This record gives sequence, structure tokens and C-alpha cells, in this order.
Amino acid sequence: MSQCCVTSYTGAAPTCPMNGKPMKPVERKTVEGLLKPEIKVDLLLQPYYFCNAPDCDIVYVSEGKDHLVTKDMLIVRVGIKETEDPIPLCYCFGYMRADVREDIRQKNDTDIETIIRQRVKAKECWCEEANPSGTCCLGEVMKSIKLAKALKDQNLL
Ligand SMILES: [Zn+2]
Repeated sequence: MSQCCVTSYTGAAPTCPMNGKPMKPVERKTVEGLLKPEIKVDLLLQPYYFCNAPDCDIVYVSEGKDHLVTKDMLIVRVGIKETEDPIPLCYCFGYMRADVREDIRQKNDTDIETIIRQRVKAKECWCEEANPSGTCCLGEVMKSIKLAKALKDQNLL
């Protein structure tokens, strides 16, 4: 976890230059692990922040806002910024939005959240390297299940 050459976090979380929303700090290993190799060389020695806004193509921004990383520069699709399948929900265990929707469509329920919780408890997750946000996916998974159930109730799924 050495970050000896990276300048330290100095103030309030910067806002996304594209949509002005506050961004979240993200570990360097997350950014490094998910960038396409040819983009990695452009990384600056600054902390990076993650924009979680669905309507924004920017994924990471350097603290000085002089390096913007857009979603096409990543080796994975950023689920929360996509509207069309495949939409990754859980990066550690490979669950897609379509998996949740298929379960809800067929049996009006899903074990996916429970399975993820069990595997997280067993410390099998590796969100910091797998998920572009660098954090656990469970919040997004729960949102997706709730939405799928609501769509099913309205016969829209
Ligand atoms: Zn943004």
C-alpha cells in the first residue's frame, strides 16, 4: 500500500469538472488496476477521485483536475454509468444486472444478494481492485433488485 510518491489529500473532496457533483476518493491501486495499459502511463502523482454520477462519462479525476479519465479508458464497463447490457453490478463475483432481472422475472426473488453477502463474509471479495468505485457493490445490488421488483410489479420487466 505504499503511496510514498503521491501527494496527500489536502482538502474537501473536489467536484467533477463535467457535472459539478462531489466525487469520492479512490485508492490508487483501484485506478491503476482498471485503466487500459496505454492510459496508465498518463497517471499523475496525485490522489484520484471517482465520479459516481450516472449521466457523466468521467470516471476518475486527479486532485488538480488536470487528468480526466473517461469510461472508455477502463478495461471494465462502469455499471452505474451504463444504461444498456451488459451492466456489471458485482465485479468480484461477476453478477450482471441481467442476472438480477432474470431471477426477478422468473421467480420474483433472487439469491444474488445473499450469495454476495456470504462471500463477502468469507472475505472472498476484492472490491478495491475489481470495482471502479473501489468499494463494495452491495448498495448497487440492492438498488438493482428493488428496481427490478418495481418493474416486474408494473409488468415492465
Ligand atoms: Zn462526473
